[in-house]
Amino acid sequence: MKIDIVTIFPDFFRGPLDYGIIRRAQESGLAAIEVHDLRAFTHDRHKTVDDRPFGGGEGMVLKPEPIFECIEKFGLATRDERISGKAKQSVILLSAQGTRFNQQAAEELARLERIVLICGRYEGVDERVGEHLADRELSIGDYVLSGGELGAAVIIDAVMRLIPGALGNEASSRQESFSSRSERDVSDLPDSTCASGGLLDYPHYTRPADFRGWMVPEVLASGNHDEIRRWRRRTALEKTLKNRPELLNGTELSKEDKKLLAQIKGESN
Ligand code: SAH
Repeated sequence: MKIDIVTIFPDFFRGPLDYGIIRRAQESGLAAIEVHDLRAFTHDRHKTVDDRPFGGGEGMVLKPEPIFECIEKFGLATRDERISGKAKQSVILLSAQGTRFNQQAAEELARLERIVLICGRYEGVDERVGEHLADRELSIGDYVLSGGELGAAVIIDAVMRLIPGALGNEASSRQESFSSRSERDVSDLPDSTCASGGLLDYPHYTRPADFRGWMVPEVLASGNHDEIRRWRRRTALEKTLKNRPELLNGTELSKEDKKLLAQIKGESN
């Protein structure tokens, strides 16, 4: 996978992309990330990338010309080909007004060969970039950041760990929070693991078993894989109900799940 970042602060990415899975994926050639300085695509003495908004109002707006010039040099497929899925490429505009980036979007992007991320600044980016150059606008959450750089780093992190081979242990991304695969699809996994199927992940523990008197749940040391699986499913349901109840609506619940949920709700009443 090739990832291009378009930004007025290229140095911002020194650091976030240099650790752990992202670093290893680049070193092993699974992914290549290139950061492009928008100012290199200006032609005036002051390297102007922004200008005042038409219609008046606060702040500055990123100009369209340098962004178009930069991205048109990449030799990408047309916007229509990208939108229709004919080309495994996407040009993404980071925007608080975009559709919400989530695990499903990350899985979709992980199947592409090339991703371009445009980082806005100031009041935002000239609308023609979103209309005629980018094929999607993504928001990383319902809050306003001062720039798209952090959003780009978030998307790159979430996407790159899904590229086959990036995680090392292929199984470990399949049973995490939000992961869309159902339990049925992972029957090849050991008995004690359970796919989240759209729920939040179950709690994890490691040694020591007794930390300041707080004990690891006994069942996890029991060696009884069926009970461990049930406990993990139950705690995943519990956590989801407590922190993100709306996720339960989009999750396919088994008979056992429904029984566990009824128990949990009964206990909390
Ligand atoms: N005036 C805009 C905010 C601009 S913030 C508004 O009210 O919607 C400047 C830049 O930060 C944006 O162009 C975008 O690239 C980035 N940004 C801000 N919030 C973001 C979010 N939630 N997700 C992704 N990018 C965001």
